[in-house]
Order: sequence, then structure tokens, then C-alpha cells
Amino acid sequence: MENQQGGRTALVTGCSRGIGRAIALGLARDGFDMVVNDIERQRADLEALAEEIRAMGRDCQALIADVSDRAQVHAMVDTVIARSGKIDAIVNNAGILIASTVENLTDEQWDAVMDVNAKGTFLVTQAILPHMRARGYGRVVNIASIGGKVGSPEQAHYAASKAAVLAFTRVLAQEVGEFGITANCVCPGIIVTEMGRTNLADQANVDKWVAATALRRLGQPEDVVGPACFLASDASAFMTGQSLNVCGGIVLN
Ligand code: NAP
Repeated sequence: MENQQGGRTALVTGCSRGIGRAIALGLARDGFDMVVNDIERQRADLEALAEEIRAMGRDCQALIADVSDRAQVHAMVDTVIARSGKIDAIVNNAGILIASTVENLTDEQWDAVMDVNAKGTFLVTQAILPHMRARGYGRVVNIASIGGKVGSPEQAHYAASKAAVLAFTRVLAQEVGEFGITANCVCPGIIVTEMGRTNLADQANVDKWVAATALRRLGQPEDVVGPACFLASDASAFMTGQSLNVCGGIVLN
């Protein structure tokens, strides 16, 4: 898909590392000019990613914003619109996972996970929608999780936040389809990242997840790139309100 998206601009949230970083590089390879986002504590890694993307010949803005903070999200979107005039595609990737059983779960842990994963997806999407609507074009790609469909012990709040993203996307698709905007989800399985390691604390857990996967291996961030770039492109023009499981065959449709 090299340069297929020339002239288009995409934003990926929470992308200084992990799945988001791989997707940002994949979109840049496809020709998108990029806006890369993460939270203040990831500034150095985010700047390094932006440099890597510029070295590929793409324009790239690195913008710090906490996706769960309405004012910061709007400041980020205003900055992009002022400089680039548009955002063609967004990938709502920023997410956190704090493991806890339901019995031990605190209000603060519940709120933190909901705020980043569910509210962050809502806030970023809402801020960008008027600009997509005005141009009659947009691709919204939300990184949910197979956790939002099945879920694992100690992740009830995480699973609930991802189920919220899936439901949000289904309704969004119905609201914005007439304006040329599609909204879809990618549901990764067990992907080896900083977050993914929460599921891989010891060899017994690694073995359990490998055995649960039809392809008999864990995922790498690059495994998520193709499906995410597909949903951000015109190749998926007649798909909306859908979710793609990218899990090596843990969940089977
Ligand atoms: P990761 O390596 O932890 O990367 C997530 C990034 O998002 C981090 O840089 C993180 O910064 C950043 N972030 C956290 N809170 C933020 C906020 N409020 N605003 C902006 N950025 C923020 O995670 P990953 O494994 O790549 O996960 C990416 C997405 O895939 C997440 O939505 C996750 O739920 C989903 N997913 C992952 C897996 C998996 O197995 N890895 C499976 C299914 C779904 P800090 O680290 O400093 O907080």
C-alpha cells in the first residue's frame, strides 16, 4: 500500500511504543502524514518516533495530550487543524491495564481504566468529528480488545472499558455513516508489549496463551498493523460498525 494514502493525515493516540507505535509507522509507510500522540511522561520516545517518521519522508507532528482530559484533547486537535487543516483518519489506541480482581478493585482503578480507554476514545473522536463531517470523509479506528468480548480474570474493569469501546463504535457508525465517515474496531489478542506482559507474568501464563491460540504463538505489535491500516484506508470503504479480531485465533467468529 506504499504511498496509497499520499496527502492524507492520520492521528494515532498513545503511540510512543507498543501497538500504537507499530501502527503509526505502518500508516506512514502507506503514505499518511502523521500526528503522533502520547502523554507527557513519554515525550522523549514520542519525539524519537516522530523523527523516524520524518526520515521516511512524511510530515509528522508530535503532540502531548492526555486523551482523558477534554481541554488537552481539544488543544491537540486545534493544533493539528491549524497546521494541517484536516485529519483523515484517527486510531484511538491509548489504553491502560491495571490488573485486579473485582473484590479488590478500587474506585480509583476503575475510574482510571475507564477514563483512558473508554472516555479517551469518546473525547478524541468527538473533537475530530466536526472536521471530518465538514469534509465528508473520515476513518475512525478504535483499538478495543478481545477482552471486551470475552475477558480474563483480574481484568473486569479493562474488559468493561473495551466493551464500551465496541458499543460506542457500533452506535457511532450509525450516526456518522451518512457523512462519509466509517468507524470500526480492531480487537487484539495477546500482543507482546509492556501492557501485554501483564498477561505473561510467568512461563505457565505464556504457555496457557500460546495453547489457547490457533496459530500457537503470541502476537507482535506488527501483527496489528495490517488490519488497522486496512480500516484506515479506502480498501475498507464499505465496512463500518465492525470489529476485527487480531488474536491468532483465540476468539473465533
Ligand atoms: P502500551 O505498550 O502500554 O502502550 C500504550 C501507550 O498509551 C503508552 O505509551 C501509554 O503511556 C499511553 N497512554 C496511557 N495513558 C494515556 C493517556 N491518558 N493519553 C495518551 N496516551 C496514554 O500498550 P499496548 O499493548 O501497545 O496497547 C495499545 C492498545 O492496544 C491499548 O488500547 C490496549 O488496551 C490495546 N490492546 C493491547 C493488547 C496487548 O496484549 N498488548 C491486547 C488487546 C488490546 P504510559 O505507559 O506512560 O501510561
